[in-house]
Amino acid sequence: MHYQALYRKYRPQRFDEVIGQDHVTETLAREVVEDKVAHAYLFTGPRGTGKTTSARLLAKSLNCPNRADDGEPCNECHSCEGIATGSSIDVIELDAASHNKVEDIREIRVNVGTVAAAEGARRVYVLDEAHMLSRAASNALLKTLEEPPEHVVFVLATTEPYKLLDTIRSRTQRFDFHPVASETLIAHLSTIADREGFSYNHEALGAVTSHAGGSVRDALSLLEQVAALGGGEVTSAGVSRALGIAQADSYGRLLDLVAAGDAARGIGLVAELASQGADLRRFVADAIAYLRGVFLAQYAENIDEIVDAPNETIDDWRTRATTISSREVLRSIDELSTALLQLRDGREERLVVELAILRLTRPETAPDLEGITVRLGRVERQLRELERREPPSAIRRPPSAEEQEETARLPSDRPFETTTDDRRRTTDDEPKADEPEPESVDESKATESGAEGGGRKAEGGPPAADLDFSDFERVWPAIVAQIRQDVGPRRHALLKEASPTAVENGTVVFEVAPHMHFHLEQLKSDVGITEAITSAARDQLGSSVAVTFRSADAEAVTAAHHEERAPDKDDLVEATDDSSSDAVSNVLDVLGGEIVGD
Ligand SMILES: [Zn+2]
Repeated sequence: MHYQALYRKYRPQRFDEVIGQDHVTETLAREVVEDKVAHAYLFTGPRGTGKTTSARLLAKSLNCPNRADDGEPCNECHSCEGIATGSSIDVIELDAASHNKVEDIREIRVNVGTVAAAEGARRVYVLDEAHMLSRAASNALLKTLEEPPEHVVFVLATTEPYKLLDTIRSRTQRFDFHPVASETLIAHLSTIADREGFSYNHEALGAVTSHAGGSVRDALSLLEQVAALGGGEVTSAGVSRALGIAQADSYGRLLDLVAAGDAARGIGLVAELASQGADLRRFVADAIAYLRGVFLAQYAENIDEIVDAPNETIDDWRTRATTISSREVLRSIDELSTALLQLRDGREERLVVELAILRLTRPETAPDLEGITVRLGRVERQLRELERREPPSAIRRPPSAEEQEETARLPSDRPFETTTDDRRRTTDDEPKADEPEPESVDESKATESGAEGGGRKAEGGPPAADLDFSDFERVWPAIVAQIRQDVGPRRHALLKEASPTAVENGTVVFEVAPHMHFHLEQLKSDVGITEAITSAARDQLGSSVAVTFRSADAEAVTAAHHEERAPDKDDLVEATDDSSSDAVSNVLDVLGGEIVGD
């Protein structure tokens, strides 16, 4: 039997067989029934969405003597058969890409003029890729559209309507064909796969559609290719093989090994992809798309409404979203985007991808603040893991004799009252869309403990009576980096106006420049900031610190120290953060009209 491509074999023969374009086909059918067919139509939309198919159906419907009341052609009469087999002269299809000269259009005009209006027959001229017409040809076409013969209908089909002359566009009735939604396309593919006797599963058809870009034609071509390669079996792996791309599970594996910081497995994955002959550039591009999906899943509850992807894909994103912090997802997207640019420059593919994965799995190789932040996040995670398994004292720095005594007195099932705090920190790494800003939570909770003046002790964690200022000073930059997430940019900017200057009786003293009364009051009253510092300090030092804020001129005692590291506002903004311009504007925001001269 004569072999026919699936796309041709299953080309719609009725308006209601066109997939996903009801808004077009229903209107067209109605116009035929009501005898309101326009002289010229403009069909726009991506390739393979049914533009020329619908033009043929229009011709069929117009010329079918047995047309149904709903406008559907009978598909049995001489006219219908002629159009279906392409032998009818009532449909003239022209590819404007190869007939783009003015002579071609003049020929059409002559042709149009001489069509004998036999028994109310209507001739449909389909001009495919209409935007490819030369300017002269476009003008010639315009003349024809200005004086349309009664029995002729023009259909201009194009993927790029904005390239047509305005004067041509304004003489047409426009229909926009849409990319076909994934699940609609999957349903269509499964009908055809059933008829063809292919074995398949939903996931494999999902893999086909996700590479078809909403085009029915591309989806059917790929389905056919995969089935041929697999001897009638359609699998996800077969789709990857047919396209020369990475297996669908590679992206999830990449994300897992980034979360685990497993460089060895990362290099192994690249080797595996290379041995499968996967296109690494494509892999990186697809991995970015995958990470974007995971990122969206972390923030958008209604991701299935805003992204068109097969259900399995969305479920996968949702699952992965809980296993990695959004910060790491974003960093991965950045890193891979950089790699993609390098790959476009024609750099050595495998090397570029390997290095990118190394940087992702080993943040210590990235010397910037981002790398440090990620490392801190991982340390936090590990600490939490350990805390869950062992008594906290085991992972903290050797406790002093005093502390040991205190630990011994605590009931064994409640080593420390860190529950509220731990719960808060657990959610920090895995933000939920509906989670309220940390500040509002903290304030209500912490005001209860609202100690004043002498500094507040954090709940939980032994206070470090023997805290050394140089210890605190050493970890302070890391604390600043860590709490930026917790307190938000406005309060972070506020905090930059204060510098740690001393430890007095186990309390870290922060000083604010003498004229900044407003800042000082804000810092003193903002329990959230204090909490964030103590919590981060506990992570860094393994022990709690108390914190107090005061004006730099309040205590003569610390004057000497203050002199030594006089907090210059601009300096601090520069030094502690790379997004200085953002910070400056935040500072101005905080300052408002509150500077009361000194
Ligand atoms: Zn018919």
